[in-house]
Amino acid sequence: MTNNNIYFVANWKMFGLKSSINKIDKVINLTKKNTFKKINIIYCPPTTILSIFANKLRNSKIKIGAQNIFYTENFGPHTGSVNAKMIKDSGASYVILGHSENRNEGETDLVINKKIKVALKEKIKVIFCFGETLRDRNNKKTSKVLKKQILNALKGINDIKNIIFAYEPVWSIGTGKVLKSENLFKDIEKIKGIIRTNFNIKEINILYGGSVNTKNIIDLKKVDNLSGFLIGGASQNQNKFIDIIKKTFN
Ligand code: PEP
Repeated sequence: MTNNNIYFVANWKMFGLKSSINKIDKVINLTKKNTFKKINIIYCPPTTILSIFANKLRNSKIKIGAQNIFYTENFGPHTGSVNAKMIKDSGASYVILGHSENRNEGETDLVINKKIKVALKEKIKVIFCFGETLRDRNNKKTSKVLKKQILNALKGINDIKNIIFAYEPVWSIGTGKVLKSENLFKDIEKIKGIIRTNFNIKEINILYGGSVNTKNIIDLKKVDNLSGFLIGGASQNQNKFIDIIKKTFN
């Protein structure tokens, strides 16, 4: 882990009802104790309960993010969609964009680029996800694929400092498979190289996401060029989420 702030982003995906708000009490208590000074927790619940989370977390250090937005800025006839203004109005100050589960549904680099632009315009920080498939990795195309995803998604964007990068190998999400810390370290260095070469940015925050759990965190936390983790499944259980946080710092 870096010496800077450490992010723990909880991606609840399409799980959670109004009653789920009680499932974060222990995490709120943890932040109240102020034990971990460098901790940054961002909860990303489904859109339907964003404002409930916002009310509950109003006086806490925990921030809220949405899991996606529509790619245009204005209000309009887009049935079922929500724009950046709407999620901001609900209390979100972050948004996850480019998640592979949405790329799988047809979201292109160009659409992700538009979404990032509208989010930043609304002063919403972006958690930008990218990652290679197993086939890319087996064909030794990881660097090429990651470079393409990053450059396409960030085309024409200057406000890079408001973007948190989230490296999420597609083959690792929800599968239990993770890279060994030494290999992940090398991949993160390569990614930082791509970003530094192409953008004017001093401090790059990169998170790792993909099957982070209470066991593999012991090895993953050794990756000292990372700024934290994007956690899906394990973040829905507050005991597991807290265990991951504690093990990261201890
Ligand atoms: C994710 O959805 O971003 C993710 C990392 O999921 P999981 O931790 O369940 O693999």
